Amino acid sequence: MDLLEYQGKQFFASYGIPVSDGQATGDVDEAVAIADRIGYPVVVKAQVHTGGRGKAGGVKLANDAAECREHASNILGLDIKGHVVETIWIEKASDIAEEYYASFTLDRSAKLHLGMLSAEGGVEIETVAEENPDAIAKIHIDPVDGLTEAACRDWVLAANLDPEATDGAVDILMKLYTAYTDGDADLVEINPLILKPTGEVHALDAKVSLDGSAIYEHPDYEQYEATQPRDEREEAAHDKGLQYVGLEGSVGVIANGAGLAMSTVDVVNQVGGKPANFLDIGGGANADVMAGALEVINNDPAVKAIFINIFGGITRGEEVANGILEAMQRVTIDSPIVIRLDGTNADEGREILRPNLNDRLMMEETMLDAARKAVELAGGPTS
Ligand code: GDP
Ligand code: MN
Repeated sequence: MDLLEYQGKQFFASYGIPVSDGQATGDVDEAVAIADRIGYPVVVKAQVHTGGRGKAGGVKLANDAAECREHASNILGLDIKGHVVETIWIEKASDIAEEYYASFTLDRSAKLHLGMLSAEGGVEIETVAEENPDAIAKIHIDPVDGLTEAACRDWVLAANLDPEATDGAVDILMKLYTAYTDGDADLVEINPLILKPTGEVHALDAKVSLDGSAIYEHPDYEQYEATQPRDEREEAAHDKGLQYVGLEGSVGVIANGAGLAMSTVDVVNQVGGKPANFLDIGGGANADVMAGALEVINNDPAVKAIFINIFGGITRGEEVANGILEAMQRVTIDSPIVIRLDGTNADEGREILRPNLNDRLMMEETMLDAARKAVELAGGPTS
């Protein structure tokens, strides 16, 4: 569950991390009233589930009510990387001496928590990692031991922040680690973490992703459901009872069984393609389920080819083949389909499909060949 910046700041504040006083609204008049209450200058900030808002014109300083009104009306409705701004956050403007970067996330390969801290904040951390990787101080933390204040201090010193920021940074990072672990977050990121000219350290931005599987331990997290970004494809698929996850690519994937569906996504990547989705239709592959799956995939405008990868088990190959053919009569499909059918009675299934093959419906013997064919039909390998 990804939080909006203001939700992330409220989450941080509940763990004692200093953030600016502010309030969220979706209304221009209310924005001005909030700014009047807080006192100028204020910052008007777009609340969307994406970064780089500053560059996109979604973060503006207002020195008086007229400027606040102007920025609020410009930012509300603004499209930032496909996210339309419905909510803005008005906060007291801060004076900045330095901008840092701080985060905690899970390093899956190390099986440890990873803290990252850099004196080069304010820019995207990916850019720092590429151009000046030495500017990022990293710390691995064993969840059993936790983060000790001594280790935290060493880490802060390694990051070469302004010495004036050391105590404040240690204090915030200890609290941030507690927020990350006790709050069951997958990611907490502060960019920029600022040093003010007065010497205080302060979180000026907040990126928080909470573990959706831990909601039962945090009933208050239900409040975030309403502001989650919606993927229309996922909603349509879930309404049909399909296990679907939307991805960014152009090869629509249909497979039976979660393991096979994941392998199918992997093999499409392996041959240089980009899957448009993960879709597990479950054990059966009858015409109803297949038609529903094809409909969901077909409604995704990014899909250029469809890869149906079925391994017959209890569901026999001829049932699968008949299901696919019947589904294709019910749904008009825009993209060419490549089928790989294997498992129980695969030969019988293939015999049923064979007379129906053409340049819109193809069949390959192996998963790898089918993936190659689908990727080629979707415009060729991208990597
Ligand atoms: P992002 O672009 O989506 O990461 O949004 P941020 O909240 O990080 O804001 C982008 C940039 O705007 C920051 O790196 C700061 O340089 C600037 N900014 C944000 N809030 C303030 C503020 O209160 N005072 C000043 N001077 N600059 C700010
Ligand atoms: Mn930021």
